[in-house]
Amino acid sequence: MEDSKLKFEDMGLSPRILSAIDTAGYESPTPIQDQSIPIAMEGKDLLGLAQTGTGKTAAFAIPLLEKLLANSGEKKANIRGRLPEVLVIAPTRELADQINESIRQLGIYTKFSSLTLYGGVNKNPQDDRLLKGTDIVVACPGRLLDHIREKTIDVSNIHTLVIDEADTMFDMGFLPDIRKILSYLPADKQTLFFAATMPPEIRTLTS
Ligand code: AMP
Repeated sequence: MEDSKLKFEDMGLSPRILSAIDTAGYESPTPIQDQSIPIAMEGKDLLGLAQTGTGKTAAFAIPLLEKLLANSGEKKANIRGRLPEVLVIAPTRELADQINESIRQLGIYTKFSSLTLYGGVNKNPQDDRLLKGTDIVVACPGRLLDHIREKTIDVSNIHTLVIDEADTMFDMGFLPDIRKILSYLPADKQTLFFAATMPPEIRTLTS
């Protein structure tokens, strides 16, 4: 694997993302980044087996920012603000905040906006921010479903879905919620799926 290791500079990334990687202090891709970024950049679906601490967040954050940059000429908006194009689903608030922070860090030289949606906090500020528009939503399943059902989020423009720590979400009993969320999303989208382990239930979900 050492032989095939790419540098960030060899991955066809845009200057704004390369600068952010440099600012973040990342010198070379971790193995999960080395393996995932080129596949995700081709627009293919991805099933990544990776624990926390392996750099898996940047492994999906970099290609999703690149895709937003590539699409940035054709933004759709409604009477509200910009419609979210990327949805990241994560099991816990802490993880959602960490992912949001990584996306902001790697997107520092872009104009894309990202927000988090999770329970245990007042929903009204989330409604307001969704009304103003955002490019990226990082959400926990329960609160996201509330927003979908109350139509405070329009998911019709989502072209990229990331499911992070899918096995943790299964352990926490979120699988029915995730299936419901999937039923609301456009069928034609790229899905990047990450889990630390691959129990049969997760295998079924990915298929
Ligand atoms: P994660 O597995 O996504 O939780 O990332 C674990 C930590 O590794 C985070 O603090 C990242 O900022 C950091 N990280 C991610 N990619 C790299 C890289 N290529 N080089 C150095 N650190 C990294």
